[in-house]
Amino acid sequence: MTVGVAILGSTGSIGCSALQVLSRQRDRFRVAALTAYSNADLLQRQAAEWKPGYVGLVNSGKRETGNGKGPECLVEAATRPDVDIVVNAIVGAAGLEATLAALSAGKRVALANKEPLVMAGELVTRTAREGGGEIVPVDSEHSAVLQCITGRRPAELARLILTASGGPFRTWNPERVAGATVDEALRHPTWKMGRKITVDSASLVNKALEVIEAHFLFGLPYEAVDVVVHPQSVVHAFVEFVDGSVLAQVGFPTMELPILYALTHPERVPDAGVRRFDPVAAGTLTFEPVRAELYPAYGLGRAAAAAGGTAPTAFNAANEVAVTLFLEGKIRFGRIADTIARVLEAHQVRDAASLETVLTADAAARRLAREAACS
Ligand code: NAD
Ligand code: MG
Repeated sequence: MTVGVAILGSTGSIGCSALQVLSRQRDRFRVAALTAYSNADLLQRQAAEWKPGYVGLVNSGKRETGNGKGPECLVEAATRPDVDIVVNAIVGAAGLEATLAALSAGKRVALANKEPLVMAGELVTRTAREGGGEIVPVDSEHSAVLQCITGRRPAELARLILTASGGPFRTWNPERVAGATVDEALRHPTWKMGRKITVDSASLVNKALEVIEAHFLFGLPYEAVDVVVHPQSVVHAFVEFVDGSVLAQVGFPTMELPILYALTHPERVPDAGVRRFDPVAAGTLTFEPVRAELYPAYGLGRAAAAAGGTAPTAFNAANEVAVTLFLEGKIRFGRIADTIARVLEAHQVRDAASLETVLTADAAARRLAREAACS
């Protein structure tokens, strides 16, 4: 019997990597469902190769591709009885509903799509507990942590140190960063990823999102989740235990390994597809503190995390709006952090326990971000 996998966002960077992994694991897994936003041609080619029972195109226009359309297709794909694992490779808040639906239906969610966990961490983790579902991170840092702590008791865990590449502006000065172009922001030194997360890596918003993600996944207070800049992206995370011992997970940067591990956790299966690690080839590994003046949005994210409730919801929403405007060429890079700051200043923090409060806070923050960004 093979395990049925749904891939939400199969046409994106993570989605394509997931199919790459599955092409080497056909004896264990079968693709049961695929969804994409608007790339009908690629989705059709993937569907022809994998012949899943369900194919959903969110924004189909007049095209007839597969058997699902509109935003509902995400929940349909995620909750099908022939689906055991949902790989959520959607970008942004759009993945929230399907994540909740999959967890309510008792599925394992291999979660790359970190934004829902940031905007609604309490709700998502509670839904998993109540629905019998399970969240297994695909994000490389969180996969590293999970690999280091599997088999340990939560009380043995003392501190996490997530690594950050520092992005393309690591050696720049803050004035130059504020005026950086879209091309410059998209030139990531170590990872090839979708546009939104690449911009988030340049601003270090991605690392703030990951600190919040780690808090909800592993139940540690924010004071126990540190970040260090590590330009080579070879060490993915460090885990410190209560006795002072530190474990790390290392490897050349590839998302295929964390994707496979999210499918097989806590087991490991043979896979010849990823480049074997070689410490000599990895060369010198360096670590630096985060330069706060270079990454103002990172500090804002940590402050939102500490404020709790709907503050991370507002942080995520403001960032999504600002990054979209930046990628459209409508605002400067520096405006991303300014916009987030304005939204967080005005945001009234509420308890984030219900879907309704989360969605209300998200919508209000988006409205404010649009005003603040362009004024
Ligand atoms: P991407 O832009 O390459 O792909 C996004 C996918 O989501 C596409 O298939 C697109 O069709 C789909 N999508 C976009 N908007 C949608 C919507 N409104 N409704 C339904 N589907 C929609 O992005 P990516 O780099 O693959 O990243 C996906 C997620 O994984 C993000 O949350 C990102 O932060 C996270 N992640 C990515 C990487 C990486 O290496 N790319 C690493 C860690 C985490
Ligand atoms: Mg990451």
